[in-house]
Amino acid sequence: MRAYGPESPERATLIVHSEEPEFAGLEGTPEPVICEHCGAQRHTMGMLLGDKVFWHPYGAEYCDCEAGQAEAQRARDEEVEREKAERRERAERLLQERIRRITNDSGMGERFLRRTLDTFEVETDEQKYVLKLATRFARHFDGLLPGRDKPLPKQNGFIITGPKGTGKTHIAAGIANYLLRQGTPVICMPEHALYGRIKSTYDARDGTDEADVLRLYATVPLLVIDDLGKERATAWSVSTLFSIIDSRYEAALPLIITTNYDTGALTGRLTPPGDDGVTAEAVVDRLREMSVSVTLTGESRRIANDR
Ligand SMILES: [Zn+2]
Repeated sequence: MRAYGPESPERATLIVHSEEPEFAGLEGTPEPVICEHCGAQRHTMGMLLGDKVFWHPYGAEYCDCEAGQAEAQRARDEEVEREKAERRERAERLLQERIRRITNDSGMGERFLRRTLDTFEVETDEQKYVLKLATRFARHFDGLLPGRDKPLPKQNGFIITGPKGTGKTHIAAGIANYLLRQGTPVICMPEHALYGRIKSTYDARDGTDEADVLRLYATVPLLVIDDLGKERATAWSVSTLFSIIDSRYEAALPLIITTNYDTGALTGRLTPPGDDGVTAEAVVDRLREMSVSVTLTGESRRIANDR
């Protein structure tokens, strides 16, 4: 067995450096590299396992001089950034998989998937304006998300109000499609389908439980609820809706709502028969606080197209 160093037959550490005299001239010991900034010699770190040294594959260490250390810091920063990006991608991929498992592809049926911002036919100034806002919303979506190093975004949601056939759903689905194509996780569903998916967990054949689905609705980067207020509310539906919206409100996560009702009428629609309406009011208050509202009052597109 080889003895390492004068002090002991066993080294105190497994980490060695190529300039140590015992490795000089041995096969595989890396040559020193001259620092381009100060001319000093840069040596390579290795790990001693048994009597073999495994030299660091990235080569000589950074120099101790100022420029060399600055370079080392840059490399560390880049590594941190790369790891962050990888973590983000991994988290997004996992979330996409959860969305697929839980909603069958973001809940967007054929009806939604064909509707893109590019295929929205503008017939009125109002539609032109809303399309412009929607396009901006989609393009700058990342800026609307909460982040560690910035203040919580305010009014990063979108309420699109107006009668049937004005293109509300098309605009909302257009934003969702734009983001989905960029790889941003989105759930886009009519209100009743949102509840239907929760109820389907009650058979729990796929191992998904109610809490899984609610957590997903609460944390997906964008939740689109189409046709809010269309169905008659029940005590269960309005309290479920409140819990979803309140979670997103607390986390400052964006939301898009389309509805045929203005906020006053919407409160009525979300109030179950015989209920005092407090929860419905809380839902609508939260929505108003979170969102920019736009109205499409224009002539019905569907009627116009049917002529
Ligand atoms: Zn140097």
